Amino acid sequence: SINRAKVIEIINKIADRIEENKLYLTELDAVIGDGDHGLNMSKGFHAVREKLKEDAGNNIGDILKKTGMTLVSNVGGASGPLYGTAFMKAGLEAGSKEEIDVIDFEKMLTAALDGIKMRGKAVLEDKTMVDAIEPALYALSKAIQLGLSSKEALKEAVDAAYKGVEHTKAIIARKGRASYLAERSIGHQDAGATSSALIFKTIYEEIN
Ligand code: ADP
Ligand code: MG
Ligand code: MG
Repeated sequence: SINRAKVIEIINKIADRIEENKLYLTELDAVIGDGDHGLNMSKGFHAVREKLKEDAGNNIGDILKKTGMTLVSNVGGASGPLYGTAFMKAGLEAGSKEEIDVIDFEKMLTAALDGIKMRGKAVLEDKTMVDAIEPALYALSKAIQLGLSSKEALKEAVDAAYKGVEHTKAIIARKGRASYLAERSIGHQDAGATSSALIFKTIYEEIN
């Protein structure tokens, strides 16, 4: 299982990965959006890193709620409130826990996805981050039911997320700035789905 310190470590790793992929995410967003997704995520997770350094909170719920609130208040784009809601909902689900396992993670991810969908009104196939997160959750649940280890289950989730990212190329954007392009958004990968898959990959790499 994962303890409080490990959760902070994982969030800091996510911040590192976002930083490394800042240009890539921004370039994807430049094609069918306004070219700031990498910048938005980098700014948000930089603020999260600073916030957790000064005050991470006492339990896993607190850490994730602080992460979410920091994203909401530091990211101007659509992704800030959406990822912010996701982390806050995951935090509410984790509550005062000081350790979590893959079953807890599944519940937290369910709450996060519900939060994103409630806030952004996107459904599967709208060419958004939902197209990476929902398949990832589905694959994770299936893997848990099949009795795979946490690491194996997370791997299934990562693969499903990247498959979802690939699929965003084939579909029309119906939410967010890319939806202004309608059919012309076909052929291009969604930036938010890509950052979501990157976050899953980082979590996978960081757990045993
Ligand atoms: P903005 O579009 O405001 O500049 P970003 O570039 O940071 O914000 O984020 C864009 C990403 O946010 C998109 O690639 C998409 O994945 C995601 N997104 C936009 N609108 C929605 C929505 N309503 N629901 C879910 N995700 C969305
Ligand atoms: Mg943008
Ligand atoms: Mg923007």
